[in-house]
Order: sequence, then C-alpha cells, then structure tokens
Amino acid sequence: MIVVASTNGLTGIQESMNVLLSGGSAVDAVEAGIRIVEADPEEHSVGYGGYPNVLGQVELDAGIMDGTGLSAGSVGAMRGYTHAISVARQVMEKLPHVFLVSEGAERFAGEIGFQRRDLLTDAARTVWQQRLPRDPSGEVASDLAGRNDVWKLVEIATDPERTQGTVNFLAQDAAGNICAGVSTSGWAWKYPGRLGDSPIIGAGLYADSRFGAAACTGMGEMAIRAATAHSVVIYLKMGATLGEAGRRAMADLDDLGGRYLAQMSFIAIDGDGNHAGFSNGEDGTYIAMTAEMDEPEELARTHVPTKARWGM
Ligand code: ASP
Repeated sequence: MIVVASTNGLTGIQESMNVLLSGGSAVDAVEAGIRIVEADPEEHSVGYGGYPNVLGQVELDAGIMDGTGLSAGSVGAMRGYTHAISVARQVMEKLPHVFLVSEGAERFAGEIGFQRRDLLTDAARTVWQQRLPRDPSGEVASDLAGRNDVWKLVEIATDPERTQGTVNFLAQDAAGNICAGVSTSGWAWKYPGRLGDSPIIGAGLYADSRFGAAACTGMGEMAIRAATAHSVVIYLKMGATLGEAGRRAMADLDDLGGRYLAQMSFIAIDGDGNHAGFSNGEDGTYIAMTAEMDEPEELARTHVPTKARWGM
C-alpha cells in the first residue's frame, strides 16, 4: 500500500494512509487525503480559500480516476462547494456521465446533499484586490463584471510569476487497485470558465491499475495539449520503466510550440508501487508514504528541462 502526493498534500497524506490501513480502497484514500487539503483556508490553490478568477469568483476543478475498470468523474468551473473531489467521485459513482461543469456541477452537488459555502476567504479576496487588472492608466479596472473586454485584462492570469498550485494524490490499496485524484482552484485570476488540466482525464490525471498512474500540476494548458498523465501511463503500458516513462512524457512537453510555455510537474507510480516525481523546474519535491512508514518522506523530483517562453 502506498500514497504519493504533491508536497502540498502533506496535511492529508497521513489520513489517506489511515484509510488504506483500515481496509479502505484506493479511491477512498485519495478522496480522504484531498478533502483535508480542500478544507484548508491556508492553501490558496485548492478548495476553500483558493484564489479566485479575474472577476473574484472561486471556481474549482477536480477529477478522480479509479484505475480498476478505468472509471472516472470530474467537475469543472464549479462554484460554492468546498469538496470538488467528492462531487467528482459522486459523478463517477452516480451518473452515466464523466464530467459536469459550472451550473450543472453545482446543481448536482446540491441535489445530492453537499452544503453550499462561499469559498472566497478574506485573505484570498485581499490578494485578488491587490492583483486586480489595471487599466492602461494604471487605475484598477472598474465594474469588471460589466465590461466586455475582460479578456484583454486576463493577461494578468498568464503571468508566470502567479501563484500556482494544485493537489495531486495517487494511492495503491492492499488489493493493488490504483486511484489518481486532482483538485485545484486553477490559475489565480484566470478567465471565468477556464478549465485547466486537473479535471481532464488523460491530461491532469490518469490511472490504470495494471500499469500505473500519474497526476499533474503546473500550466494546465500544456498538460491538456500533450495529454501528459495519459502519456506516462501509456509509456508504462508499452514497457518503459517509471523513470523512462516520466522522462518521455516530460520530453513530449518540449515539442509544444506557441507563446505560453511554463512550469509543469507530475507524480507517477507504476503497477508495482514504485513512485517518482518529475518537473521541468528545479528543486521540485513530492511526498510518499508506505504502510510501513510512521511519517511521509519528501523526495526530489527528477528535473527534465523543457523550453519556456512567455508571450513573445
Ligand atoms: N494545473 C493547474 C491548472 O492549470 C494549476 C497549477 O497546478 O498550478 O489549473
């Protein structure tokens, strides 16, 4: 049994392992770990307390994939419910669909009994107000919601120095089932309705209990274009080692063209429970915990540089 997570999953990894130790499934473990991170107001890239979009609305993306049978559920651009990962799981378990967005996801969450909550904390609102788009004159843009040129202001959301983050969890239970889960408030100051990679099966997450799983954080548009999480698993399926699979999926990102190329990282496990982390940035870490460990260990991600450019 093993749980592997992005480093910001530290608050949830012990609970995730406890679920496995008490006989829970990999899906139970992933959900339990991510819920703790989603509820933490200090984590500004996930759930309650997440940074909002350019209009000041917190919109959550989350996805979960059960690698046994390849079932999956996702929600995107969902407002007003803290536990996007749990709503995603219910999409997987209750509906013939895989993906709900926006009002549909919110309606579903309400129908099945999730409690509505304002997700914008005072701390996140304060940072948003400091980062509000400015008019060319330098004044804070007024009446943002009523303007028809918000798309021009959203360049602020494509600032590579922006606050980044997403929580990734991968778990393998006693029966060998593997689950991947991802939850995020996405890019701070993003355009309303923007979906990142996190809820997109094959982009931000993928799991196949026979071969392995992967989950991503970073500039989601890149993982969507390269189908990064699926690539890791498909390389494993083709016989690559975990190290080779991760390097090849990272190298695929280097093939991307266009004007916006930035940070991308992922964690991965194979069917035997070996784990690794990869990043095109230096000094990245991830965390892992096996059933035998009293506490999680923090490990370096393999650095695989890819080209970066911004707006040129
Ligand atoms: N991947 C997330 C997204 O694109 C953000 C992040 O991990 O920094 O929404």
